[in-house]
Amino acid sequence: MVKRVTLTVMNDNSPARGLLNEWGWSLLVESEAWRALFDAGPRPEILEENFTRLGLRLDGLSFAFLSHAHHDHWGGLPAVARANPGIKVYAPAGAARCVPEGLKAVEVAEPAELALDFWSTGTLGSSPVDEQSAVVRVGGSNALLVGCSHPGIGKIADVARAQFGDISFVIGGFHQPSEEQLQRAFSVAKFLAPAHCSGNEAKRRTRELGERYVEVRTGTRIVLEGGSKPTVVWPRGVHPAILPSGLTTRRQFPAG
Ligand SMILES: [Zn+2]
Ligand SMILES: [Zn+2]
Repeated sequence: MVKRVTLTVMNDNSPARGLLNEWGWSLLVESEAWRALFDAGPRPEILEENFTRLGLRLDGLSFAFLSHAHHDHWGGLPAVARANPGIKVYAPAGAARCVPEGLKAVEVAEPAELALDFWSTGTLGSSPVDEQSAVVRVGGSNALLVGCSHPGIGKIADVARAQFGDISFVIGGFHQPSEEQLQRAFSVAKFLAPAHCSGNEAKRRTRELGERYVEVRTGTRIVLEGGSKPTVVWPRGVHPAILPSGLTTRRQFPAG
């Protein structure tokens, strides 16, 4: 059984000083049993730079996971191929075309355990794009990792709970949910980290839940152990290894 999982946000819409970022989503997911990349952000250069700047290795991945066929999630995959030639990329049904040469696309239609305690919900149909989410079992609890939530964050949360039981934590893009979808997510997940395309309103509404809200941005690192509150290790997205000055970035980041 996986006992501890570390999540590192490699690219999010919310920037952090000293790191590159653009509109997109990528999450490094590490346990004692495997290292996986959930989505790859919009560009390979962002992954390569941010892995280096955070002192993390882009090689040595066990596999990658693609939530859906939008460029802001698969555009960085060539960097994964360069550092990890031949590894599998689990993609939703119909999305193998997004996986570049040098990687092995595996489409996942039905719920499946892809590695020890790392599950796909299977492909959920939606308009305009099909999407899969991941459920990681940590110390007997379930963490739900989502990409853009095109099928609806409430629907995904309901499906995940029906398949796997109570959800202790959800992180990813909530895609500007309706109040109804957001309430469904609130009723399923204990702790929530709306990111990427969630929108300011969904973040504001989740923040109102007090300590159930987990704020994330590019560079944030979170440790999951069982169902207790996720521990945020790098709250401001600036790892101690990153020098606060002397780095050039392609964008002017706001403070914090
Ligand atoms: Zn999308
Ligand atoms: Zn997206």
